[in-house]
Amino acid sequence: MVATASTPTPAALRALHTTVIGWYEGNARDLPWRTPDASPWAVMVSEFMLQQTPVKRVLPAYAAWLERWPTPAALAADAPGEAVRMWGRLGYPRRALRLHAAATAITEQHDGAVPDDHAALLALPGVGEYTAAAVASFAFRQRHAVLDTNVRRVFARAVTGVEYPANATNAAERRTAHELLPATDERAATWAVAVMELGALVCTARGPECGACPLFAECAWQRAGCPPYQGPARRGQTYEGTDRQVRGKLLAVLRDAHGLVEQGRLDVVWPDAIQRARALDGLVADGLVEPVGPGTYRLPQ
Ligand code: SF4
Repeated sequence: MVATASTPTPAALRALHTTVIGWYEGNARDLPWRTPDASPWAVMVSEFMLQQTPVKRVLPAYAAWLERWPTPAALAADAPGEAVRMWGRLGYPRRALRLHAAATAITEQHDGAVPDDHAALLALPGVGEYTAAAVASFAFRQRHAVLDTNVRRVFARAVTGVEYPANATNAAERRTAHELLPATDERAATWAVAVMELGALVCTARGPECGACPLFAECAWQRAGCPPYQGPARRGQTYEGTDRQVRGKLLAVLRDAHGLVEQGRLDVVWPDAIQRARALDGLVADGLVEPVGPGTYRLPQ
């Protein structure tokens, strides 16, 4: 494609954009955060939730969250522990605290309106490079390189010709993403979501459906004969037996309790006392659980 070492010509870029955006228009999923009436706050909530949780699990949580907290000010008025409770089983619950902190900053510093400026978004607590670009792009239709895991995988294969991207986003990927951006805001915003959708639906991590891919004829990885990945070991997603699993079990007790929880109720969730104590210490250190006395805990107030 999508040639690599040299910058693609403007005509090649336009053809690429037309191909991918055309595919998107015919294949995009109908998701609530993509509808015209989705507020910038709704887009921000979806981006926090989608970072490490699949769409199917996010959908009901997203709807419930926005019904309870339709604005940043509504969330900021509640305790952070309520955000942790509503986060439920989406996983990686520190995102709930970060979203609450962002809502508080938006309420206090931006009159309750999600800022449309990329730098202002990036300055919000809990908002990193990806989320700032995604909200600016999807909610405000601006031109930004939006590099999530799906986009990075598509570029790794179609542009660079390797099966998987590096473990962490690097300068070369950012350069590629910028080079491929359409010139106008509106088209760049559509391009961003279109490449992301292609990665989510077709160029998937384990079973890319290359025969159904609009980039098949030009894909660098295909043209190289689909060489297997040869980089450093990829991060695994093991869960069973990890501290993450123990943290999830402890937090579930606190979420369901609606009040103070005595140590004894936590001690029964996991047999290994050392691992259990380590997981609880971690939850306290992360601000997800508050000790309120000897052996008594609650969600943060
Ligand atoms: S042809 Fe296959 S590997 Fe290449 S971009 Fe499409 S789905 Fe991904």
